[in-house]
Parts: sequence; C-alpha cells; structure tokens
Amino acid sequence: MSAVAAARSILTQLHEVMASRLHPQGKLNQVVEIIGETLDSEVCSIYLLREGVLELFATRGLNQSAVHVTRMGVGEGLTGTIAANVETLNLAQATAHPEFQYRPETGEEKFHSFAGVPIVRRERAVGVLTVQHVDPRRYEEVEIEALQTVAMVLAEMIDNAGLVDAEDALGSGAAFSEPDTLEGLTLVKGLASGVAVFHQPRINIEHIVAEDIEAERQRVYLAFDKMREQIEQMANQAEFGVDGEHEAVLETYKMFAYDEGWSRRINEAIDSGLTAEAAIERVQQRTRMRMREIDDPLLADRMHDLEDLANRLLRIVSGQVGTAASMGLREDAILIARNLGPAELLEYDKRRLKGVILEEGSLTAHVVIVARAMGVPVLGRVRNARTLIREGNQLLLDADRGMVTVRPSPSLIEAFEMRSAKNRERQAAYAKLREVEPFSRCGTRITVMMNAGLRDDMPNLNLTGADGIGLFRTEFQFLVSAAMPQRERQTRLYRDVLEAAGDRPVVFRTVDIGGDKSLPYLRSENSENDENPAMGWRALRLALEREGLLKSQARALLEAAAGHTLNVMFPMVSEPWEFEAARAVFEGQLAFLKKQKRKLPNQIRYGVMLEVPALAEQLDILLPRISFLSIGTNDLTQFLFAADRANPKLAERYDWVSPAILRFIRRVVVATAGHPVDVTVCGEMGGRRLEALALLGLGIRRLSITPAGVGPIKELVRKVDLEEIGEAMNGWLASPPPSLRKALEDWATERGIELD
Ligand code: PEP
Ligand code: MG
Repeated sequence: MSAVAAARSILTQLHEVMASRLHPQGKLNQVVEIIGETLDSEVCSIYLLREGVLELFATRGLNQSAVHVTRMGVGEGLTGTIAANVETLNLAQATAHPEFQYRPETGEEKFHSFAGVPIVRRERAVGVLTVQHVDPRRYEEVEIEALQTVAMVLAEMIDNAGLVDAEDALGSGAAFSEPDTLEGLTLVKGLASGVAVFHQPRINIEHIVAEDIEAERQRVYLAFDKMREQIEQMANQAEFGVDGEHEAVLETYKMFAYDEGWSRRINEAIDSGLTAEAAIERVQQRTRMRMREIDDPLLADRMHDLEDLANRLLRIVSGQVGTAASMGLREDAILIARNLGPAELLEYDKRRLKGVILEEGSLTAHVVIVARAMGVPVLGRVRNARTLIREGNQLLLDADRGMVTVRPSPSLIEAFEMRSAKNRERQAAYAKLREVEPFSRCGTRITVMMNAGLRDDMPNLNLTGADGIGLFRTEFQFLVSAAMPQRERQTRLYRDVLEAAGDRPVVFRTVDIGGDKSLPYLRSENSENDENPAMGWRALRLALEREGLLKSQARALLEAAAGHTLNVMFPMVSEPWEFEAARAVFEGQLAFLKKQKRKLPNQIRYGVMLEVPALAEQLDILLPRISFLSIGTNDLTQFLFAADRANPKLAERYDWVSPAILRFIRRVVVATAGHPVDVTVCGEMGGRRLEALALLGLGIRRLSITPAGVGPIKELVRKVDLEEIGEAMNGWLASPPPSLRKALEDWATERGIELD
C-alpha cells in the first residue's frame, strides 16, 4: 500500500473513532489496533507525556498490564529519545541502539524492529507513537510517513481530550524546560524581560483531518496563487528589504514557490486525508527531518527560507495574516523576528514592547535607529532565534552583554532583577545631569542635542536636558502613515515639535525616503529598478523629482515655523547644485507666503547632511552658502567602506573608530574652520562614548544623538580635556596603532574615564 493510501485508510478510520462517543482511553485503544492492523505491525503503542514523564497509554501487542505502569523520562530509552529530540527513529534491531532500555513488564524482548515518531503539538513532543515487529527489519519509508501523518491526527485528538498536561502542550514541556542562553550582536543596549512574541506568529493548526479533500485541494491551490503573487509584488518593490528579505532570499522564495515537488507533496498529503494546513505542516516536518541529516550551512539557510515561505503559505491558507502588532501585545513582550522594517516596529504598543531579538539586523539599519529612539533594547544576529525560542517563552534580554536567556531559572531572574535595578540607578544618575551643562574639563561648552522623528520623542528633550533637536527625521511621520500625510498634518506635527522645543533649536531634515525606508504609497519610476536602493533614488534625489512632495513639505515647515527660526536640512546632498535646487523650492514657497501676507519664520537657516563622500570635495563651494553642516556617519560609513549599512553580514566588519573614517571627519573639520558654519555629527556613532571621545579628539564640538545617549555623553564630556585628546588623536592618526579602539580605551582607562 502506498503511504498515501495507508495514511488515508488509517485517517478515515481514525476520523470515525474521533467522532465516536468512546471514552478517550477507549479511543486510544482503538487507534493502536487500527494502526497495527493497517501497517501489519505486531505492536503499536502510544506513550503520552504526563507530569513530565512519558507513560504507556495504550498498546496492541505489549503486555496490557504495562499500560499506565511503564513510564520513562524524556531523553530516556528509545521512546524518551524520540520525544527529547522530536525526531523519528527507525531501527531494524532496537537493542543495538545506544539508548535502548529494556522494560521487562512490557514483554517486548521478542520484538526486534522498532520505529517511533513523536506526537507533536505546538512544536513540542507531547507523546510518542511506536510500532514494533518480531522480524529484524527497518520499516519502509511509506510506513514511517503514514505513522507521521497519523501522529499529527493523534496530537489533535489528544489535545481535544485533554490527555496530556496542558502545561506540556503549551510550552514548558520537559524537552524545552531547561534555561538556554543565546548570543547575538548588541544593536541597542539595555536590559529587558518579557515573554517571546513572534512578529509573524506561528499558525495554530486547529483541524487536521479533512472533511472534503477536493475543497482542501482548492484552498491550497488558491493559497499558492496568492503567495506567488505576493512574491512577484515583492520583486517589483523599489526597495526589497522591509522584512529583511534580500535579493538572494527572494530568489530562493521564487524557486520554492514555483517548485512542483513542494506543491505535489502537499497535494499528496491532502490526498492522504489531511486539511490544507496540516498538509503544509506535514511536508514541512518531513523536510525538516531530512535537512537535519544534512550538515550544510548553505542548505540550512535555504531551509530557513523554505520555513518562511511555508509559514507564509500557512498564513494565507488559514487567513491568519496579521503580524503580532495587529493582534496587540497583552503583556510585557520581547519581539522575535528575522528582521523588521522601521514602520513595522512602530506599529507596536510602546508600553508593552520591552525588547527586540532579530536573526539579522545591523547597527545603523533604520529599524534599529527607531528602536534606539524608543529606548527598546535590540539584540541582532541571533542565529535561529525563531527555532530556539518558543512563543510564550520567558526571556531575559541582556543586550548590554549581547545575550538572551530563554526559560530562565528563578535564580537567574533574581540576578537579572538586581542588574536591572543597578541600571535604573545609573539611569537616574544620568537623569540628574539633565540640568548640568556639558562643559569639558578644560571649560569648552559642547553642544549635545538629540535626534528625534516623532511627536512622542519630544518629552525626551526635557527628560535628558538635550540642547535641542539636531536631527528631526521628518520621514518617520510618512513611515507610520498608511497614506501620504497631508500638508496640514505635517504642519501640525512640525508646529507641535517647535512648541515642545520652546527656545531650543530644532533641525528639520526633509524627507529621506528610500534605502531601508520605503513607502508603499510612494513609488517612483526611477526607483522601480533600483538594484542598490541605499545608493539609488532616495532622499533629496527623490524629493527633487517629486517636487510636489518637497513643495508641500516646505510650505508645512515654513508655516509651522512662523515667528520662529526654521532650521532646514537636506539629506544625501552629493553636489552643491542639489542643495541650490532644494533651497529654491523653499524660497519659492516663502515668496508665495509673503505675497499672501502670511506670518513668516523670523529666520531661515539652511544646512546639509554630509553623508555622501563626494560632497567633501566641494565644501569650498558649498560652505559659503549654508549655515550648518551635519555629518551623517551612518550613511557616510556605508559609502566610504562600500558596505551596506543594513547588511547583517557587514554589521561587525568595519569600525567607526578606524583611521579611514576619523581622517575623513578630521578633513571636514579642518575644511570648515574659519567658516561661520556649525558642524555637527548626527550619526549613531556620536551616541557611543568611545566613538564620541574620538570625535571630540577630532575637533567635533556638536553632537546630535539618540536620547538615551545624552546623559552618558554629557558625563563623558565633563571628564575630558579636549586639548589632551586632540593631541593624542593627532598622534594616532599620523601613525595609526594596530587598534585605535584599544588606544582610546587605554587612554580613557589611564584617566579613570569609563567608556562602557
Ligand atoms: C546618517 O546617515 O548618519 C543619518 C544620521 O541619517 P539616517 O540615519 O537617517 O540615514
Ligand atoms: Mg543618512
């Protein structure tokens, strides 16, 4: 009999048993008979997890007196091994297996062959289904497959009958109850505890056995269509990276989406009597098993992609399409995702979102910048986070040390609480610096401003005592909106921001859309085929093309700043004419407002971001025309090193504290000397103490940084003698030591300055 026919025959019979009015024990007794009979197996037994131990619940062929007597721990004997590893065993000679344990009460000594499959509920083993035979033969593949399909049905039946401990079924099953520590790359520092919530929640398969096979086939067919459509859409997106799905991933998606083998196997599983959801999961289980046997990292990556795609298919077929944000967070949560876009992160309830764990991620990806602004710790590059962490697991995220503890013990929780309390104390100490002005040890006033992008960021200005907003990323309002924000809405936001800032300056940067900040409602023909969106049709390039967009933003800013000073800054300026063109748009709007006799800003100061290296070569032309220059080290670094800031593989490769970056910044500082132009660094680099120390050494006197960095940077500034660090920096840059980072660390340690 084929696997399909065997499984279907068993499933049809099981369906009847499940629908019958028998007592759960009676049902299990019938199930082992049906399976044994159909597979022509002398023994068939069901072990279920009760109180963390596997207990023989029903058997055909073993001594009936062993039922509810034979018990084994997870990890103990063959049955326990299957449960612990959630994997299938198929042995011609059971006694030859190193884990074999003999249980005399079962009378199993005469059976040589043994096969067992885990009964899985919510990805953990809640029991084991075994067959045994007198002849020493391995069970055939078709038989194993039939068993695996049956185990899925059993899982549902067992769950419905409440036969296993609810605890075990829900996630604290013994196989996953041990604490575990995973490591990653610190993207945003901080400590947080909460339960694991998957950004793309796992689909709960409610029904396993199909009522109408034709209807299930149709559902899968339509779901495949929809999935392919989605993938085509992704491919056509100007910027393919919102979910962290890079081009190679897209290629793999396409390959699998059109893979006939995959859809055929799903259809076969449906033929055997499973629902569409169960069939997808069934095929996925089988693939997982096969892959486990192949130790190839490249294939493991592909497997990851297939898992993603299978999940996507499951979401479509089950209609459960929303992310965890759309369902709302019910308790303190730590979000788990492969990667996220900034807009996706902003959809979460800030009060409940305590931390983020990404399998990818890099320091300057915009999602990380947003998280930093929200004060949410982020740990990136945690390999297989979505496999090793289960939804609902308790997590202690220690992004300071680059690790997360899964299912922590009470003593670990206690130690963590103590560290959190210390952290809070430290934060409170920084908060005290709110009123203290950041004068260096030698008496120079350093300007420490903060970066912002949303109305919600504004309270941080008072909380941190920052000198103003050195970078207001206006595109964030666009990112969190489903449609283009109307001019009135923009004006309201800018007005609120200026009001909240009072007499402190705010630098509004015009929209920087593109790169890893794409908007579904704003596509440009020119960006459609961008192979490299970060260097493509983004920021000012796009804004100048979409003059309507820039005009309306200019009007909104000019109107909002009536009676104030308006500081406006243009992103990604590569050549002076781009600045001129952008300024002309503002001047045009200003002339219009003047004509209308509207109230105008008291003063307009224009500035540019220096993030494209080419601009540094034309500073002599640009400087006389601008009031301020802001060095965006996030983009500058990616362009100087030709290293995509959002590429997780490059996240740790290049150091900000490297001679290339530092010499470059020093050139800019030197070139601007003597010009009445404020020079600020507004990239993420300035918010980190060691990097900030380096910048002070280069002559940078103005920083605009993440709000959480304001306290620590003020504290640092007060301990530094600028002349001393300047001299040291000159020496290091003239003849760079093997590690500039180490040199800075040593320099600080010798002076009792903490850089952590
Ligand atoms: C930068 O590039 O350094 C910067 C501050 O701008 P953004 O991070 O928004 O690109
Ligand atoms: Mg930038």
